[in-house]
Amino acid sequence: MSGRAVVEVSGLTVRYGAATALDGVDLWVGEGEMVALIGANGAGKTSLVKALSGLVDRSAGEVVVRGRLAQVPEGREMFADLSVDDNLRLGGWRNGRRGRDTSGIYELLPELGGLRRRLAGTLSGGQQQMVAIGRALMARPDVLAIDELSLGLAPMVIDTLIAHLHALHRDQGLAVLLIEQNAALAFDLCDRAYVLEAGRVVLTGETAELARDPRVASAYLGGA
Ligand code: ATP
Repeated sequence: MSGRAVVEVSGLTVRYGAATALDGVDLWVGEGEMVALIGANGAGKTSLVKALSGLVDRSAGEVVVRGRLAQVPEGREMFADLSVDDNLRLGGWRNGRRGRDTSGIYELLPELGGLRRRLAGTLSGGQQQMVAIGRALMARPDVLAIDELSLGLAPMVIDTLIAHLHALHRDQGLAVLLIEQNAALAFDLCDRAYVLEAGRVVLTGETAELARDPRVASAYLGGA
């Protein structure tokens, strides 16, 4: 374990009526650690992120978040009719008037500088994902939970986002929980990973080792 845990999930079970989305999941993210959660469609990834912030009810288990958690939700959830700057500002609403100063975000994510007055609804998917990350950073999080970073984005755009996340991790000690269907990308960015199947963690460990595991290679990395 690298330092103490900023996110600690134990025995987490989430049910929607008769359907069990998560079944006794244990997972932790250490301070400043980059951790991936991979799994196919319907494995329960989104339910886990939602449970972290109390957006779904737990049927059993515990979730402990130490420090501040911010989320980059699947689908980015921009306010399409608001400007980029206003979307960013909304991410800082908890921090009072000064907390809504967006200038620091344009330093961290310079690509957003020229877009600040554009309506979010007119941006490309990659630009929106960057706004979603910027908005989450406005909360000054200790840990960022990103649901499907790469979904629908071109490889070059993904590379730019990954480079920014690397820098935030290196320079600010930001911890990241990256929820991804693209295991190759998740393994590239993260030191450790959890593999979720049908609501259960079936494998976990260092990404370098997991990548060599034949079960992971055949099911998630497109090879054997
Ligand atoms: P995706 O990649 O498609 O978002 P996921 O891994 O994030 O999938 P979840 O969205 O957490 O998976 O869903 C896990 C399981 O729970 C799935 O079988 C899904 O059909 C079911 N589920 C999710 N939300 C609900 C809901 N509101 N009501 C009933 N079942 C649900």
